[in-house]
Amino acid sequence: MADIIIKMEKVKKIALIAHDNKKGELLQWAKQNIEALRPHILYGTGTTGGMIAKETGLLVHGFKSGPLGGDQQIGCRIVEGDIDFMLFFWDPLASQPHDPDVKALLRIAILLNIPVASNAATADFLITSHLMNDEYDRTVEDYSARIKRP
Ligand code: PGA
Repeated sequence: MADIIIKMEKVKKIALIAHDNKKGELLQWAKQNIEALRPHILYGTGTTGGMIAKETGLLVHGFKSGPLGGDQQIGCRIVEGDIDFMLFFWDPLASQPHDPDVKALLRIAILLNIPVASNAATADFLITSHLMNDEYDRTVEDYSARIKRP
């Protein structure tokens, strides 16, 4: 089966999510990279998005808070093609009440070959890529053969 090509525009649709112990780190990163973020369309889970909008003045479209379904909303937007890039600073030291949602979101991002930064160093590398401001053909495997039932 041929792969599916999804065109990413120059303006990326970026999801911003951070677990509580990582919110400060993401906020600091967003402040340091405010000019790089400005041309893009930003989304965020409720608390993270609200905090970044308030502290940076950037427009961030907010979903529900993560534990209240925000991660699932973002996963849904990824499936629908409305989000194509994700900064998700998840906490490796704390269990989350919505752990299944976190896992589902990370899974769906991998499934659709979405660039994901889970920490500041990765985010630094991604945000400085020339691809951030270029079109990009994202290749997604055609999974139809693999999910075919007998
Ligand atoms: P929050 O959700 O931004 O509403 O805190 C993030 C998360 O825990 O997934």
